[in-house]
Amino acid sequence: MEHLWSPWRMSYIQNTTKPEGCIFCVEPSRQDGPENLVVYRGQWVYAILNRYPYTSGHLMVAPYEHQASLEALEATTRAEILEVATQAIAALQAEYKPQGYNLGINIGEMAGAGVANHIHLHIVPRWGGDTNFMSTVGSTRVLPEALEVTYWRIHKAWKR
Ligand SMILES: [Zn+2]
Repeated sequence: MEHLWSPWRMSYIQNTTKPEGCIFCVEPSRQDGPENLVVYRGQWVYAILNRYPYTSGHLMVAPYEHQASLEALEATTRAEILEVATQAIAALQAEYKPQGYNLGINIGEMAGAGVANHIHLHIVPRWGGDTNFMSTVGSTRVLPEALEVTYWRIHKAWKR
């Protein structure tokens, strides 16, 4: 089986897609840390913190491959999205103990996808009253924790 981070795979991604400006292509090509916010790499998909989180711990699972739809992905990639989402929830549960989660994929701009041409699954931890401490003014939200702190907490909690 092909290893994901082989040079072949990287050049495949760079040559056949349009990663310029696509954060889901650009960020995993950088070194992992609080700068690119990639907390976990699987074989076909990875998990990345949302830079503009709805709540603390809001992350996304995306394929390395630049594809706009679920049906364009291999079945193994689709399966791994849910597998990595399950691991993400386990890590969030261990570290943040939220009271619930919203999982969702916005397909197409009309459905609210911020980056519509690279599919990604949102995982949003929820707490009772969590909308109360966030003031939503345009795209600005007030969060109780710095992204870098969240990054290391989830990175450490993730079972590898
Ligand atoms: Zn992309």
